[in-house]
Amino acid sequence: MSTVPCPECEAQIELTSGTETGEIIVCPDCGVDLEVVSLNPATVQLAPMEQEDWGE
Ligand SMILES: [Zn+2]
Repeated sequence: MSTVPCPECEAQIELTSGTETGEIIVCPDCGVDLEVVSLNPATVQLAPMEQEDWGE
């Protein structure tokens, strides 16, 4: 198991063994959405905020 530092709050986030590239994980510390961009080395980046459908 590897850990990656949260780019937002620098908390160490554990990547579970089943984590795949492109997966969205949530920082347990600050709650930000992170996209796994690489597994070797383990790297994450802030996930683009999904646009909510606000309606009109
Ligand atoms: Zn964080």
